Amino acid sequence: MQFKDIIGQDALKMRLINSVKENRISHAQLFLGKGTIGKFALAFAYAQYINCTNKQENDSCGTCSSCRKYAAMSHPDLFFSYPVNTNKNTTSKTTETRVSKDPVSRDFINDWKNYIDEVKGYPDLFQWYQKIGIENKQGLISREESRKIVQQLQYKAVEANFKVLIVWMVEKMNDVASNALLKLIEEPPDNTLIFLIANEREKLLPTILSRVQVVVVPPIEDIKLQDFISDFNPKLSQAEIRDIANLAAGDVFEAKEIMNDSTELRENFDLFVEWMRLCYKKGSLEGIKTWVDKVSKFGREKQKSFLNYSLRMLRESLLLNYGKDQLVHIMLHEESFLIKFAPFIHLKNAPDIQKILDLGIYEIERNVASASLFTDLSLQMSILLKMDSAER
Ligand SMILES: [Zn+2]
Repeated sequence: MQFKDIIGQDALKMRLINSVKENRISHAQLFLGKGTIGKFALAFAYAQYINCTNKQENDSCGTCSSCRKYAAMSHPDLFFSYPVNTNKNTTSKTTETRVSKDPVSRDFINDWKNYIDEVKGYPDLFQWYQKIGIENKQGLISREESRKIVQQLQYKAVEANFKVLIVWMVEKMNDVASNALLKLIEEPPDNTLIFLIANEREKLLPTILSRVQVVVVPPIEDIKLQDFISDFNPKLSQAEIRDIANLAAGDVFEAKEIMNDSTELRENFDLFVEWMRLCYKKGSLEGIKTWVDKVSKFGREKQKSFLNYSLRMLRESLLLNYGKDQLVHIMLHEESFLIKFAPFIHLKNAPDIQKILDLGIYEIERNVASASLFTDLSLQMSILLKMDSAER
């Protein structure tokens, strides 16, 4: 990972680069800041820069032997430590690793490399736990792990000027491991750099805090996060990009989460509008058949998400229809449709519509064949939508 791959953080990059140029690299540094804001990426790019044999003005070269091994995360003088746990009974399909006892980072190194690659150097703790199938437990950096770290760092560097240890989420270290780390920081082996990464200052031992140089990492600048969002999803409008960056508050992982959600919301909305029109229109059996074909091909989670979305639209329509505007939580793109649609939802048909949607969700969970399920739902919906409201 090079500095050019990092989103924003220009001032901090310059500071790190200058520390190398001025030959005042502190041997133990803590990259501190809340969220997925580039702490790991910065520590990684910094380490790569330090060991690059053909440094450019403001970045590593990316092509020397050291840089290439860094990029592949296979440099013999680069070590990682991160929270793990046993996962012997996991049903997770994102990992083939199974560990039943004394879990250490090394056990999960292939998962780690793949994950860092996948998230381009911007890891998130819970997502990492999901990847290795330990999301129901806490990951930790154990005593066993600290022993391994100390062992690894005792050897002379194989080929780099500096051995580098990057400890991700150092607050997950237990006390024994923290003390081992402390000792390592106080009496570091020759030519060894230790970069710690943490979210919360309060969860670290004061003795560690007092012996490291703290590099405070701020949230990513809004304008830089907007650039990232627009590269990530070129289909978004300027207004959407600004909204997402605003909600994400400088956090890459948050921004990605919001983008995933909003894509799904948009898909559900389009699907819902189409469905309601088909159900209401006379003689649209062919159209319903095509719609059902499309929806039956979705995975179960997506089908459930759609029916849950439909339930929300039902609720919002009812509120809108009965003049409780202040209770309505709708997005801009939903508004004009709902204003026209709401009059078709009333106290006489709403309970039954809710019932069939709830039943649909229940049946999806029980693996009922989805083509017949959605055909039934459409036919019932079509009758219910055409029902007169009590007031008319
Ligand atoms: Zn290089």
